[in-house]
Amino acid sequence: MKKLIGIDLGGTTVKFAILTEEGEVQQKWSIETDIQNDGKYIIPNIIKSINHRLELYGLSSDDFLGIGMGSPGNVDVIKGTVIGAYNLNWHELQHVKEQIEEGTRVPFFMDNDANVAALGEQWKGAGEGSNNVVFVTLGTGVGGGIVAEGNLIHGLGAAGEIGHINVDPTGYECTCGNVGCLETVASAKGVVQLARDISEKYAGDSILKVMIDDGQEVTAKVIFDQARFEDPLAEIVVEKFYFYLGLACSNIANVLHPDTIVIGGGVSAAGEMLIHGVTRYFKKYAFPQIKESTKIKLAELGNDAGVIGAASLVVNNF
Ligand code: ZN
Repeated sequence: MKKLIGIDLGGTTVKFAILTEEGEVQQKWSIETDIQNDGKYIIPNIIKSINHRLELYGLSSDDFLGIGMGSPGNVDVIKGTVIGAYNLNWHELQHVKEQIEEGTRVPFFMDNDANVAALGEQWKGAGEGSNNVVFVTLGTGVGGGIVAEGNLIHGLGAAGEIGHINVDPTGYECTCGNVGCLETVASAKGVVQLARDISEKYAGDSILKVMIDDGQEVTAKVIFDQARFEDPLAEIVVEKFYFYLGLACSNIANVLHPDTIVIGGGVSAAGEMLIHGVTRYFKKYAFPQIKESTKIKLAELGNDAGVIGAASLVVNNF
């Protein structure tokens, strides 16, 4: 049985894993991402690290079916190139596949990081056993990936931009140039923006309001924790958040009718409370046949979704 290598390339660390063809993680390690000098050390460092580990474990390139990688930026899946990954300082076109195959002698496949995380959850996480899974990640931004009938959906390249589904045409400005995108209210920063805005007009007693007015650090975690303690302002804020995310999920599901919508990323640490809230609005807005069958679940793989999903690119390509 041959093995797989999965790589999750991020702005601060590169995570690696060696897996079986069934997706069982056997080894994990990581290195720092050196983004100096236009990120030109990133790929050579990845190659060095893989070759070093193979030597350490007494393995050779023949032991591997392939390497899969998830990368930020615009990924050309066919050519194996990346451009516009600004957190890596990759402004110019990077010939990633060519370099890694030359440096490791192992076949290489890649996709963007959100798509790869979706594949991970579909293969071994909350969507395991289903061919129709949508992954929504609520982090610094809101990203997503769509697996429909077993295939990752790319469209003309930018399919799955779930963070830019419009949930309020009169809403906040988004980094994409539009207003009212899901990301402006459901990312880590978005939830805080929502809280500050609602707090301004809120006149009642609230610990959250005192914290905001005092200039204390208010994060998505603080807001959800306060909602759990039944702080009235925090409850209004998270209810609004549930509405926006539930509405977006119903629109996604009405188009794709997935088995599962998986919610992950830092904000999803709010846990089952968040799933219950979002499901309430999802059931309110989704098409009857869809609301009965599509489930909304928390992501299960955490940080491993990237390396596991990346490795599955290899299996899917063979
Ligand atoms: Zn946007």
